[in-house]
Order: sequence, then structure tokens, then C-alpha cells
Amino acid sequence: MPHARCAAVADSPAGRFAPSPTGRMHLGNIYAALLSFLSARQKGGRWFLRIEDIDSQRSHREYALQIMDDLEWLGLQWDGEPVFQSERSDIYLHYLEELSKRGLLYPCRCTRAALLASSAPHASDGLRPYAGTCRPATPCFNAASLHETLRLHIDDNAVVEFDDTICGHMSVKPADTTGDFVVRRRDGAWAYQFAVAIDDALMSITDVVRGNDLLLSTAPQRYLQQLLGLGMPSTYTHIPLLTNVDGQRLSKRDSSLAMDVLRSKFSPRDLIVHICRLAKLEPEHVLTQIP
Ligand code: GLU
Repeated sequence: MPHARCAAVADSPAGRFAPSPTGRMHLGNIYAALLSFLSARQKGGRWFLRIEDIDSQRSHREYALQIMDDLEWLGLQWDGEPVFQSERSDIYLHYLEELSKRGLLYPCRCTRAALLASSAPHASDGLRPYAGTCRPATPCFNAASLHETLRLHIDDNAVVEFDDTICGHMSVKPADTTGDFVVRRRDGAWAYQFAVAIDDALMSITDVVRGNDLLLSTAPQRYLQQLLGLGMPSTYTHIPLLTNVDGQRLSKRDSSLAMDVLRSKFSPRDLIVHICRLAKLEPEHVLTQIP
């Protein structure tokens, strides 16, 4: 199934904000949204909103609507229609079948406890490469049963290279970070890496700006894009996560920094100015980019 590049014009600058609608946004989310918005707009590019609601247990439509309302309140208007991952199963299935036909998928029956016991924690970010317990000795063609967890058989020698505006040149061996990663879960949920790789490519995203907790996710995403012959973003900026007074990354638990509280205390302009100070950006310049 040829999937037309659905949003941006290929190769013209395009960014995206890709929140998971699992709660109300907080200061950290809008910080990431603003930096992504500015990065796209400063290049005269388009900026898209993608709602990452593939986890049906944790995602709720009301949070997605609230995210849109909060972005509009701030003046961060996205281009086109928002893209909902929950509506893109046919697209993901098409690429899953392609990998299956090429013998690159295999079912994994490892329990969560077995996975934890068999893998050494990765040095820096908690990613644990899969130990390969269920990896077959020879490729299994058309093995993509939709009722089992499916892993991608990666090339153990592959190295993924990319440049990050903040972290510099990155050279990552997926075998050392994720190993054979999951593309679809037993409960039918698409894996984050799989859906993001396909969506960024089909939306012709050129500039990815997101939290640096996702830095090492870039390698499996680019690996998949290359494997599937899809386009890849050209610029990555993995921004430091905002932390609370205890030095922990902001989360939904930091309710005093949630958008409902922020909206009751600040005007959109004051909040943008506040974020600019955090990001060491010139507020007057930033405000000219926001209609
Ligand atoms: N949905 C992810 C999140 O809310 C972001 C994914 C991405 O930017 O690639 O953390």
C-alpha cells in the first residue's frame, strides 16, 4: 500500500509535537511544545500535532481535547488536522506485514519477570537490550501472528548515526541498547518505536525536538525507517527535561505546574515569557513568532 506523505511537502522543514494524552499537560510538556514550535517556525516550516494514543488503557480522548485547548490558549497553532495514532492501525499493519514477509519478525513469549532477570541494565538510561531468548536461529517468514508479542530481528552489527543539535554526533549500536525490540504487543498495542518511526516518515517530519529521555529511541526509529525504505528526519534536538525542586523530572504528580493551575495564574503571554527565561530565549523575539 503506497502511503502518500500525508502532511508536509517532502523536504520542506516540518516539526511536530507528539504528546501522549494520559493526563493534563504540565510546564515540561509545554516547554517541549514551544521549543518544537519555534524550531519549525523559525525555518519557515510547518508544525504538526500528533496525538500518541496507541496505549488504549492509558490514553483518553478528553486529555487529547484538553491538550489541543491548552496549545490553542498559548497561541501554538498547529498546521492541518491533528493526527491520531489510534486511527492509523491499517498503516502500521501494512508495514508489519512487510517486515513479516521479509522474515524479520518473531513471536516472543518471555514474561516480564524473565525479561528483567535476563538483561543487564544499560549504563545510562535504563534501556535494557533484549537477551534474544525467543530469537529463532533462522528467519521465520510470515510469522506475524497478531496475538503474540512480536519482535524485530535486528542486525547485530548495525550502527545508527545521527547528529543532535545539543548532544552532538551520535553513533548507536541498537544491539547494545534495545536489542531486538518489540513492534507490537500481545494485547494488540503498537509499540512506540514502530508507530513513531512510521509516522515521522509519512508526515515528512524533518525536525524532531523532544525530551532527552528519548535520545536513544532515535536509533531504533531510524533503523526501522531505513529498513522500510522510508524518509528520515534530518535534525534532532533532544532537550534537557525540566525538573522539580527535588531534581526529579516533572511529572503529572507535580500538580502545581499542571496547565489548569498555570492557566489560572498566568496569561498566555506571561507563561511564554516564563518558559523563555527557563530556555534562555529572548521573549520579545519569541513572541513575534506566535500569532
Ligand atoms: N509521545 C511521547 C511523549 O509524550 C513523545 C514521543 C516523541 O516525541 O517522539 O513522551
